[in-house]
Amino acid sequence: MEGGSGPGEGSQRGASDEVLLSGVFSLVPALKTDYALSLTRGAELLMCRQGAAPDSPAARLLLSDCIGCYAFQSKGQQQQQQHPAAAYFTVFCYPLKKGWWDSGEARHRVAKTFRVLASQEAEENRAVAETWASKIRELSAPRIPKLEGAVYGHLPWPCQVMVLLNPHSGAGQALHLFKTQVQPMLTEANIAFSMFITEKHRHAWELVREENLSRWDALVTMAGDGLLYEVINGLMERPDWETAIQKPLCILPAGSGNAIAASLNYYAAKICLLKEELLMSCTYFLCKGLHAPMDLVSLRTASGKRLFSFLSFSWGFVSDVDITSERYRKLGRARFTLGTLQLLTTLHVYKGRLSYLPAEEPSSMSSQGEHSRLSAQNAKQVSLCNGKPVPSHPQQGCALEDPLLVPFDQPLPKDWMVVPEEEFVSIVCIYQSHLGTDLLLAPQAKLYNDAIHLFYMTAGVSRMGMIKFFMALEKGAHLTLNCPYLHYVPVKAFRLEPFTLKGDMTVDGEVLACEPVQGQIHRRISHIITGS
Ligand code: ADP
Ligand code: MG
Repeated sequence: MEGGSGPGEGSQRGASDEVLLSGVFSLVPALKTDYALSLTRGAELLMCRQGAAPDSPAARLLLSDCIGCYAFQSKGQQQQQQHPAAAYFTVFCYPLKKGWWDSGEARHRVAKTFRVLASQEAEENRAVAETWASKIRELSAPRIPKLEGAVYGHLPWPCQVMVLLNPHSGAGQALHLFKTQVQPMLTEANIAFSMFITEKHRHAWELVREENLSRWDALVTMAGDGLLYEVINGLMERPDWETAIQKPLCILPAGSGNAIAASLNYYAAKICLLKEELLMSCTYFLCKGLHAPMDLVSLRTASGKRLFSFLSFSWGFVSDVDITSERYRKLGRARFTLGTLQLLTTLHVYKGRLSYLPAEEPSSMSSQGEHSRLSAQNAKQVSLCNGKPVPSHPQQGCALEDPLLVPFDQPLPKDWMVVPEEEFVSIVCIYQSHLGTDLLLAPQAKLYNDAIHLFYMTAGVSRMGMIKFFMALEKGAHLTLNCPYLHYVPVKAFRLEPFTLKGDMTVDGEVLACEPVQGQIHRRISHIITGS
């Protein structure tokens, strides 16, 4: 017997237990069992099987895991003939569940459809189903964290997003993964999308530079980190960059380098997921629609380039792995392991001068920053490259000022530090936790903590030392190795002046020809779809 529903009686228990709606419905497709459903103010959907022992526990769906719910009238021809007045509602949840093969938790889909047959009138049943669906959606809205100075928000419902997809990302599966994994979830969450498949390098950059952004509630990239980098730089090149960069961005990982997706997942659940599980988690974030502020780093090169980076800037071993492993792209993320092993056979030394503005006062810095007490003996020097002063080129692009940086042909400000060593194996500036899907370089990082995490490995480290470093990175335990060549210091700005201009650097995994580069953090200027 299926009963109607209505506003629930106020509960004697805590406010979150208060029942907002209750009713008896049949579970589809079997339709053999009736369930007494209650929807509580605490956003739980409790399901008690009719006829079960009174003390048997109710099954629960937490609406914090729910991405959508909708009501409809028809459920197949047979049902329609038998019960023409019936209406239905389906709730879509993605709770976390432990995998059977390891101890990690990942999201999995639970969809429940209930039949409403309280009345002989189709209209009345439909109204009940609509009431349930809209209340479930309302209670599923993400809780917006209230943190000082950080403006979180959530996407409207329903919403319309622009999807930029790189068909060559990673192992070339992005389009297939979108159709099979992402699209069904977007439908469940009532997110409409228009797909733009990129046709060449910098295509996404050009598209968003010209796009009418008022058409979209969010810009979504389905690719590796490189496509999001293009979108951010396209937005920052617009005349209206100040408002354009506030458009919520979203990454659906389908590349070989999915560091920002791994970081977002790590911030939300402190777990590392790979491949499809990581993709499902990020699609779930998009369906929930919560967005948070994210820091960006403004980079300026001696030749006058102006770039914006959300993830990392690297030079030396780490960037060479990224670049040389490009030819193994079809292997997906395994390309980085292969590239690392290959480059370990010839461990190069890269010469240059590294300077930075510490994030904290030198006196309060940890032992990892000990070198910085050596102070900036040569801070008065101007930049040299190939033994010649670096001329100051006019800067291109966006009008956002970098108050912490001075032109390359001027001496560094007094509060900057210069690293005494000038021979490096690798230098990485990272502003999110992960450098790759399973490379936890900066466990202390957050989406917005107004700091660049500067890591550098000085020359002298052995191959075995490098192997140990990379093995420890998986768990973020590299600093506990106490490797004397590995240095870490949180900074607000940095300058790197390579002594020769051979080779390349990388910004967010994208290639940048080697030249003097400096950068500073900009607090919370962009917004990204995130977990809680
Ligand atoms: P991955 O993680 O596999 O490196 P990315 O999304 O980072 O994937 O993209 C890698 C590069 O592919 C970026 O430089 C981007 O500009 C470029 N790109 C985007 N679309 C295309 C295309 N259709 N053909 C070739 N390159 C493309
Ligand atoms: Mg990439």
